[in-house]
Amino acid sequence: MTMISDFLELGLSTELLNAIAELGFEKPTPVQSTIIPRLLVEDGDIVCLAQTGTGKTAAFGLPTLEYLDINNTATQVLILCPTRELCRQICQDLTNYSKYLEGVKIVPVYGGAGIQGQIKELGRGAHIIVATPGRLLDLIKRDAADISGIRTLILDEADEMLNMGFKDELDAILSQAPEGRRSLLFSATLPKEVERIAMSYMKKPDIVTVGQRNAGSDNVEHFYYMVREDDRYAALKRIADYNPDIYAIVFCKTREETQKVADALQKDGYDADALHGDLSQAQRDHVMGKFKRRALHMLVATDVAARGIDVNDLTHVINYNLPQEIELYTHRSGRTGRADKKGVSIAIINQKEKGKIRRIEAVIKKEFTRLPVPGAREICERQLSHLINEINNVEVRDDIYTFMPTINEMWDSLPKEELVKKILSYEFNRFLDYYRKAKDLNIPEKEKKEKKAKDASGNKKNSATESNETARKDKKARDGNPGECEKGFVWLRINLGYKNKVIPRDIISIMKACGIGKKSVGKIEIFNEFLYVALKDSVAGYARSQLNGASYDRRRLSASIIEK
Ligand code: AMP
Repeated sequence: MTMISDFLELGLSTELLNAIAELGFEKPTPVQSTIIPRLLVEDGDIVCLAQTGTGKTAAFGLPTLEYLDINNTATQVLILCPTRELCRQICQDLTNYSKYLEGVKIVPVYGGAGIQGQIKELGRGAHIIVATPGRLLDLIKRDAADISGIRTLILDEADEMLNMGFKDELDAILSQAPEGRRSLLFSATLPKEVERIAMSYMKKPDIVTVGQRNAGSDNVEHFYYMVREDDRYAALKRIADYNPDIYAIVFCKTREETQKVADALQKDGYDADALHGDLSQAQRDHVMGKFKRRALHMLVATDVAARGIDVNDLTHVINYNLPQEIELYTHRSGRTGRADKKGVSIAIINQKEKGKIRRIEAVIKKEFTRLPVPGAREICERQLSHLINEINNVEVRDDIYTFMPTINEMWDSLPKEELVKKILSYEFNRFLDYYRKAKDLNIPEKEKKEKKAKDASGNKKNSATESNETARKDKKARDGNPGECEKGFVWLRINLGYKNKVIPRDIISIMKACGIGKKSVGKIEIFNEFLYVALKDSVAGYARSQLNGASYDRRRLSASIIEK
């Protein structure tokens, strides 16, 4: 298989090279360096198994444009895709690539928009039609679209087209496409139905897998937060608050849930909105426009509605609920970590869903890391430093100088420290109020085990001393309060526990490695999955910053200070 690492070597024309250079494409992605040379110099049909976000559009779009006969007004290329969003995205991408090719006509046709306008547009000529299957079939029946002269047929996200129930439409379109065409099929997965399409309508296609099949993008890290079912929404808010620069898609299972979560977020003051199939096209466009302009920080969406969303800089993909089908998780997480950027995929799960995480791990061949849901103190610290950074970076305009004499007069008697406190409090009191009484949302491992044991033994009581001891510790952990620690000390919670075979002596050594002596270390309480260590007030913040992200026994550490 040819693999070329430079656009110049691919054999594309200067016009196309200039256009993609302007888009900032420096080197071909793996799917591009595999597919482009094959399309340019070889014949034959290809089934390409590649994830979304891998640069597929340019992989098929650039060679297609290269071979377009602009003087011939007949439709030469048909691209079929599952959703109107993807349809428009592909058109936009092809338009960008063909910026320096004069006279290329690319027409998108999709359902949910007026058909008359599309008929008119097609009447003006279309070298390339990009279509959703249902609408195209309608247009063919009305003699508005003519695919009898196409030389290239591209099926993009074929698995998704079939998932969305376009089987009959695809069969009808493909059986009408001319014999001599070249066919390309792109799909993230190869289920039986996609294989059937490939075998029935393609000529001995070569199956090319780019990247590992079903594998998650290498750039994406996978985390989960385990909370009680009732705390799912509270956990989502904590994630948003802990990441003040969040720019995320929040995936929900149903349209109803999508709307409910988006409404709740809006009510709680977040820049969030819903995207799902119950919305009109105009509403969806409006929401997408806001999200792309970053006027929305969280787009709450169903899987289907999120198809074709082309946003490269997502900070997070959040699984508010895990999808029913494991393969959908790959699609979801593939929305982040695109174009060489690092991505984060987070799942909020309840105790019963841990098995699902393990099954996803087996499919994506990557491990999830469990993270503690951020507590009040950590969130407030993150928010405060974000606010201070924003203040530091704000542009000071000349106009302000005319007001300075008045401002100075009003604040003349206020010492600088007081002024800083007041300004920060003005912005920050809402947070402090909300988080003052915030509980720990984490489920201690013990509680889970207890529950299991209880269920199994039909509520049988354990031996008195043991159950008292466990209950005492459990209760403390449930409340996020591991009991009283020494005066002048605070609890630091670390994601290590008996499970990791740590004993108090290890904790002392860990602290020593951070430069914290025995005198600053107080009580230690170890649970199965995590532990609490009491540290002198003055060193706790330092210890936390040293430990967060560090490794212990190949485990990434996460430490948080527990509010008293
Ligand atoms: P696609 O898989 O075609 O939806 O592409 C995903 C994103 O990657 C799109 O926003 C493209 O603009 C971007 N992209 C595609 N090819 C390249 C490249 N060679 N270098 C940088 N970005 C790219």
